Amino acid sequence: MIYLAVIGLEVHTELKTNTKIFCSCKNEFNLEPNINCCPVCVGMPGALPALNKKAVEYAIKAGLALNCEINTLTRWERKNYFYPDLPKAYQVSQAEAPVCLGGYMEIETQNGPKKIRINHIHLEEDAGKLIHSEYGGSLVDYNRGGVPLIEIVTEPDLSSADETLVFLENLRALLKYIGVSDCRMEQGSLRCDVNVSLRKEGEPLGIRTEMKNLASFKAVHRAITYEINRQTEILNSGGEIIQETRRWDDQKGRSYSMRAKEDAQDYRYFPETDLPPVKISSEFVRQVKETLPLLPKERAQKYVEEYNLPQYDAQILTSEITIADFFDECVALFDNPKMISNWIMTDVMRKIKEHQTEDIVLPINAKNFTKMLKLHQDNVINQPAAKTLFEHMWHQDSKTDPEQLIQKLNLVQISDEGELENILKEIIQNNPAAADDVRGGNKKAIAFFVGQVMKATKGKANPKTVNELIQKLL
Ligand SMILES: [Zn+2]
Repeated sequence: MIYLAVIGLEVHTELKTNTKIFCSCKNEFNLEPNINCCPVCVGMPGALPALNKKAVEYAIKAGLALNCEINTLTRWERKNYFYPDLPKAYQVSQAEAPVCLGGYMEIETQNGPKKIRINHIHLEEDAGKLIHSEYGGSLVDYNRGGVPLIEIVTEPDLSSADETLVFLENLRALLKYIGVSDCRMEQGSLRCDVNVSLRKEGEPLGIRTEMKNLASFKAVHRAITYEINRQTEILNSGGEIIQETRRWDDQKGRSYSMRAKEDAQDYRYFPETDLPPVKISSEFVRQVKETLPLLPKERAQKYVEEYNLPQYDAQILTSEITIADFFDECVALFDNPKMISNWIMTDVMRKIKEHQTEDIVLPINAKNFTKMLKLHQDNVINQPAAKTLFEHMWHQDSKTDPEQLIQKLNLVQISDEGELENILKEIIQNNPAAADDVRGGNKKAIAFFVGQVMKATKGKANPKTVNELIQKLL
């Protein structure tokens, strides 16, 4: 039996504010445990929260970038659950009136563009972090407690693991673009739970399961594939899917049942009486809108129109804000967008792929990178020398001026006709048969001589001059 997969996501993203959402503790990662806490974020009796306006601003920003409607009045609720990472035994969250409603993001699929609808985006505080000790027992670090989070809840519009991956990659790029989160999965600033159910064509939605503990996009993809297979097998053997929360074990490549899936009523949401509702004026929304940068699609369009780049190239260049910013910086310094784009699309992207990390880090700066391109454009160095220089700059020395580097590395192109002529003459003398071939019009033989001159000059000969000399001498 063929089933259709129905997938929805809950994406939690920590916001990049300076301080926590309801107190003035720093919002920082990697600190010594439990030093970044105060009576508010560890829930001491009588401590009163005060809302961080920046968190609301960032939630609105995310909502605008995802085409959401912004609520004019947003309220806080307490979500009750008892777990050691939550000292108050409730989490301040939003249920009835979240900051953003509706919205969508368009992704490219095999069948063309597809709109993935957003149900809503709400703000909440993060919980502490449990560290399960290898010596038994668990430790709690409350530094993370009270860090502002947005939860982006999609409609179940995704229909495969591949589509989900594309959506998440686009979403991460977008959130980084607008600067509301650094979206590092390995540090937990982007986390995602996946809901999966199956249904037959034309039939209503099936029972869904929720998958947790997904620490990378790859894990998300594997877990969805696993869950679709698991549910298919159960249904095919006449069984029933149980509504439950499952934990993904990436090492073992399988998931385990954690608990029966809770519904909203299980959390006994009730109004947070310590925080008044927040009025969001249309003026404030307008101000936030003005801080939005050009989003990936708009920026790609600009590259096509202003720099005449192919759509495909523009899309790659704008897929990550780090790359797009680097490209813009380069274009501002060196007026040859096509050449810059070509180098980024090939050599720079290859290097980035070699050192795959969550955050793209470019060890070269735009100033020296464009100087290198200019040296190549002005024929001071040829193509192979430019590649050598690029490698050197990327891996060893990105600070020294390329003009100095090409002297140090002995990469300056030899265009001196006299010098090249002497080298070529000697090669012709040693290869009379090949020389006859050139005289007989054999193009391959010309390439042979160019190659020999390059070899003799360690790749530094100006290929144009060499070609001209071959024509002249043979
Ligand atoms: Zn605090």
